[in-house]
Amino acid sequence: MRSALIEAFLNLFKKPDTKNYPFEETYKPKDYRGLIKYNEEKCIFCLKCEDVCPPQSIIFDQNIEDGKYKYYYNSYLCIYCGECVRACPKPGSEGAMWQVEESEKPMAFSEQRINDDWFTLEERAESNRAKYKAIKKERKAKEDAKKLKEKLEEQKLSEESTVKGG
Ligand code: SF4
Ligand code: SF4
Repeated sequence: MRSALIEAFLNLFKKPDTKNYPFEETYKPKDYRGLIKYNEEKCIFCLKCEDVCPPQSIIFDQNIEDGKYKYYYNSYLCIYCGECVRACPKPGSEGAMWQVEESEKPMAFSEQRINDDWFTLEERAESNRAKYKAIKKERKAKEDAKKLKEKLEEQKLSEESTVKGG
């Protein structure tokens, strides 16, 4: 009992063993794998990263007018597995997707609040893709009908000129 009291008393003058996270850096292993970075300019929009992501922390939302994709990444959901980078045909910091090796600003301090609307975004992206697919199908059907009409008109004109000529 006496030695415990002495130990407790001496501890009052020692520095704490714990880290004051997030105000202080915590231990980081040598092969640390951090957040995902993305460069739209190098992306070919194959969507492989989105397909392989286990917690679905990558979403490409599609514009229903022109079909263009917009990338979203949820760092709160990400488990840093690196599967997206492995699946990417253009990996690396010179490419479309890579994983940072240095730690970033602790999430607690991040202004990013994407998690709040993530599931709404997920639903919207799914619905937008279905809408765009339907719009594309309709446009193609119209184009095919137009081409067929033009072909039939050409055929008719050629038949009429043959009759006149004969
Ligand atoms: S590191 Fe893993 S969890 Fe994070 S975005 Fe890539 S595939 Fe998804
Ligand atoms: S896998 Fe790479 S190239 Fe394909 S959509 Fe993702 S970031 Fe773009």
